[in-house]
Amino acid sequence: MMCPYCRFDESKVVDSRTTQDSVRRRRECLKCNRRFTTYERIDEATVKVVKKDKSRVPFERDKIRVGLEKACYKRPVSEEQIELIIANVEAKIYENYEREVPSQYIGECVFAALKGIDQVSFVRFASVYREFKDVSDFVEELSVMLQERQRTPSATE
Ligand SMILES: [Zn+2]
Repeated sequence: MMCPYCRFDESKVVDSRTTQDSVRRRRECLKCNRRFTTYERIDEATVKVVKKDKSRVPFERDKIRVGLEKACYKRPVSEEQIELIIANVEAKIYENYEREVPSQYIGECVFAALKGIDQVSFVRFASVYREFKDVSDFVEELSVMLQERQRTPSATE
């Protein structure tokens, strides 16, 4: 983001707020130290997720949704609650990270939100996720586990 005063193109973010579909960022120019505000549309703010192996993938809210739906399978958690968790997690990401967000941070945000809603879903999400430390790896692995469980129903289900 170019400084409107001195045209220097590096700034640090001093405050971020998400609104409906945009992020308002208060920035401080690294050269002249003056402050200015930018508004970025969320769908244009292309955030990348940094995975455990340092590879980058585009952030996809659907990956969080899939993970949550699997974790909340047969649990008393509504679509609205899942939507709300995703919205909250997204807001936190955009408020705290500008271009790249560690996948671990996303997982931690989902934990925090899920913990307050349904303990069983939380434990399911946590137990698998902790091993993988990555939402997308987790989602893939959990899908496989659930498919296997459906093929061989256990007494505990
Ligand atoms: Zn400046």
